[in-house]
Amino acid sequence: MSGMERTTDEWQRIDVEHHLHPFTDPRYFDKKAPLIVTRADGMHVWDSSGRQILDGMAGLWCVNVGYGRKELIEAANRQMSTLAYYNVFFQSATPPQIELSRLLAEVTPEGLDHIFFANSGSEANDTIIRMVRHFWEVQGQPDKHVFIGRKLGYHGSTVAATSLGGMQNMHAMGRSLLPGFEHIMHPHWYLEGGDMDPDEFGLKAARALEDKILELGADNVAAFIGEPIQGAGGVIDAPRTYWPEIERICRKYDVLLVVDEVICGFGRTGEWFGCQTYGVMPDLMPMAKGLSSGYLPIAAVAYNERVHKVLKDGGLFSHGYTYSGHPVACAVAIANIDLIRRDKLVERVRDDVGPYFHDRLKAAVGDHPLVGEVRGKGLLAGVQLVKDRDSRTLFDTADNVAMRVRDLCLERGLIMRAVGQSMVASPALIVKRAQIDEMADILADSLNAAA
Ligand code: PLP
Repeated sequence: MSGMERTTDEWQRIDVEHHLHPFTDPRYFDKKAPLIVTRADGMHVWDSSGRQILDGMAGLWCVNVGYGRKELIEAANRQMSTLAYYNVFFQSATPPQIELSRLLAEVTPEGLDHIFFANSGSEANDTIIRMVRHFWEVQGQPDKHVFIGRKLGYHGSTVAATSLGGMQNMHAMGRSLLPGFEHIMHPHWYLEGGDMDPDEFGLKAARALEDKILELGADNVAAFIGEPIQGAGGVIDAPRTYWPEIERICRKYDVLLVVDEVICGFGRTGEWFGCQTYGVMPDLMPMAKGLSSGYLPIAAVAYNERVHKVLKDGGLFSHGYTYSGHPVACAVAIANIDLIRRDKLVERVRDDVGPYFHDRLKAAVGDHPLVGEVRGKGLLAGVQLVKDRDSRTLFDTADNVAMRVRDLCLERGLIMRAVGQSMVASPALIVKRAQIDEMADILADSLNAAA
């Protein structure tokens, strides 16, 4: 039988037998069954037993417009019936690719007018690695090849994107740290700032980039990459002094600035892109997730005129994917961007639900004995768990407190994620105030149960 109607027990048994889950220790399923999600609508998902759960993560930080939007479904239907796929010798294009390139040039920060398509954030970042190194090679500077990222940065899980990121456990597995990738400290004021005030610490953390460039020699450094807010690292939002200083240093040493908008893009931080929240201007910008609200896999790299001119002089750009700019995914992304604009979802995050989300979370759990800090921007929040608030001492990793809180939330009908020792949340941009109240109350209740 290959049908979609099975009992929960059957789904779980077959899943464990045949399906290796990403980022999962398979032994987890010796003790716990996988959650089988069968349907979704608006802010909610339903599991295979019919239980309704509030999705506080928008899938994997991606379903920005919420589930079940007919505009996206119809766009996919229409495009699939008209032209499901086309590419052959690469010097062709389809209307959805062309239209989406134009639209992205319009909604991205001024000057990022050129677009390359990929299928995932990892592929977009692999593209950037090849594009940026090619950029310097074309100009006769092949040694300018090193990428500098940050500890706990996450840019994907292909080998190159793993190297770009700063997750040490990922580097260690399968010898996945390639040469030519360096990492500086992450701007985590709460855990690394000590007695410094946040602004002072922001400058210190940014100057680690200057130290690294001087150590390696600017002639060897191709680019710096960072997420506006480090998502998978635990929603680490840098103090306001950090990004302007990073930009100044990049310009001083002629190091390209890459801002990874895979999570922050498309309204999550209360502007279209996280770099706008922090007032910095990247040379290149990868986007994915919220680009199609996760309805279909698609990613893009936007880059500026300087990069474009050099790429043009460089001739053949030997890079691409069978599904670069897949017409159905592009059509869905166009419908998604139209919807975000029509319903003014970015403004909604900036002026209404974003501030409410943070106020409400702080009010509900900010003073809880297990909580050290509530941080983030817009509809992106991290709740730092601590064993001791005064000394900012963390729990033993073996205690798995965040995972316990995650499970307690799930039992109470809410999906949040546990990342390290933080609870993170990123609800869809359509979230209602009453649903934010529900999230905050369930989290508080779960923390009480874990304490
Ligand atoms: N960049 C950032 C900031 C991400 O958070 C992620 C995924 O979570 C990626 C890149 C990789 O994207 P994907 O999983 O689509 O390859």
